[in-house]
Amino acid sequence: MAELLPPGVAPAAFAAALTEFRQALGAEWVFTSADDRASYLDPFAIGDRDDHATAAALAPADTDQLRAVLRIATRHKVPLWPVSMGKNFAYGTAAPAIKGTVVLDLKRMNRILEINEDLGYALVEPGVSFFDFKDELDRRGAKFWMSGPAHSWGSVIGNALEHGVGYTPYGIHADTICGMEVMLADGSLVRTGFGAIPGSQEWQAFKLPFGPVLDGLFTQSNFAIVTKMGLWLMPEPAEMAGVTIDGPGRGDLARLVDTLRPLKLDDTINSTYTIANGMRQITGGARRADIWQGPGAIPIARIEQALATRGKGWWNVIFNLFEHTAGGMDLRVEKVRRHFADRMPQAKLSVVRWKQGEPQAPWMRQETSLAPLAVVDWRGSPGGHSDFGPVVAAVGSRVNTLYEMVERRFEEFGLDPWIGMFGIGGRALVFVADMLYARDDKAMTEACKALFRQLCKDAAQMGIGVYRTHLEFMDDAAAAQTWGDRALPRLNARIKTALDPVGILAPGKQGIGRKPA
Ligand SMILES: Cc1cc2nc3c(=O)[nH]c(=O)nc-3n(C[C@H](O)[C@H](O)[C@H](O)COP(=O)(O)OP(=O)(O)OC[C@H]3O[C@@H](n4cnc5c(N)ncnc54)[C@H](O)[C@@H]3O)c2cc1C
Repeated sequence: MAELLPPGVAPAAFAAALTEFRQALGAEWVFTSADDRASYLDPFAIGDRDDHATAAALAPADTDQLRAVLRIATRHKVPLWPVSMGKNFAYGTAAPAIKGTVVLDLKRMNRILEINEDLGYALVEPGVSFFDFKDELDRRGAKFWMSGPAHSWGSVIGNALEHGVGYTPYGIHADTICGMEVMLADGSLVRTGFGAIPGSQEWQAFKLPFGPVLDGLFTQSNFAIVTKMGLWLMPEPAEMAGVTIDGPGRGDLARLVDTLRPLKLDDTINSTYTIANGMRQITGGARRADIWQGPGAIPIARIEQALATRGKGWWNVIFNLFEHTAGGMDLRVEKVRRHFADRMPQAKLSVVRWKQGEPQAPWMRQETSLAPLAVVDWRGSPGGHSDFGPVVAAVGSRVNTLYEMVERRFEEFGLDPWIGMFGIGGRALVFVADMLYARDDKAMTEACKALFRQLCKDAAQMGIGVYRTHLEFMDDAAAAQTWGDRALPRLNARIKTALDPVGILAPGKQGIGRKPA
């Protein structure tokens, strides 16, 4: 891997910065060898992995070392890309948006500072992974559960900062944040919310302080480095049910969304629901070559055929129900059954149940795992995937229009339309329209880029934006924010300039700070 300089930094200045970084952190925590730097490349890169290569990586042990890094970086104008676990698979992993930016790896700051079992919260550092966190809850026999993403390699903080999603009533992870400690680019440390009051016992207990609520300012942003975060934990339920809905045909999406909406709005369905299209269903336990060997995307008719042999309809929905009153689950399940029987009699519901004290099962999604990563080699190995993630109001007709547009574009660009939709709040769905590709197939990765950019434009025409993107597409996503003569990007740019005038923190993240708005 060729040596690199951070953007705009002269060789002598970078050499001086590296010497100072080594003095501050110890030489073993400043990574400059080709092998070390290669470990920060995006394994799912959409195209040339070197487009987002880092010039070096730094791993501070604590906030004092972090402050020293920031001062040196500011002096030599070396841009830094903070990551917590750096397992942001599908969105860039640990790689920076702009080639040469130095990765600031916070994995060594990995203390679980508090798990409060009276109030149900935790205070953690960036390097605490979901694996670590679950182990600690289990070790304590805590009566609180974690809400994690599908794979557990990531960081509790990193995932919440990225607006990550889980599958419990606490599945909007950014909503569970209560109080942060952040370090600004000038090295000053700030505690948000009631953390501003010395001796506060309410920092992780109440989200609305005296003054503005700042926690959100530091999610999906490059305004500061988050060094501690409070997160609320879900009390262990008394009962759970796992519901699967099968059977709706291709034309039933609008009705399905409109049927699910009232149940989600009134909290009968009190966790994230996932709607999977036919393509998403046929990948489980199958090889693509057994289904389709022709050119381009698998034709819809072929997918329908594969579904028919498994006795499945085009749409499948899964969600879990959580109940804190023993016996209450019967009512909740019955309500879901009746609601569907009245509105979508063709839908087949199957339900599995769990009660406190019984062994847990995989459908409860409480196990830590790497299993979901298996899908990446669908188009060939080494594989990759990234997704187009528009957010759409949970109104059947609008969801259906968007779905049809996205599916049509996938087929047009020769990519299998592997599409899921997550009902994470009552009022909107987040699409995860996955582009599965063979990483070394240049034509395929170019098609992914062209597809994503086309979809961004199509969605913007409908007044729809995305919730999260791969590094490759952050500018494209931000380009849709045109209301009021780009008032929001201009405000972001002003905040960025005020908090990070030299521009050393994560340039280009979410399209902020790469170039003037
Ligand atoms: C098969 C598969 C399934 C997935 N399933 C899910 C899922 O169910 N739900 C979900 O949400 N995601 C999912 N993902 C996406 C992603 O892999 C996870 O969200 C993962 O948890 C993110 O990585 P991380 O937690 O290590 O965050 P990091 O990589 O550590 O951080 C992500 C980004 O946040 C910023 N950041 C991180 N830490 C800091 C900090 N301390 N200060 C300032 N900025 C910071 C940086 O910009 C960084 O690049 C999935 C990916 C794949 C491939």
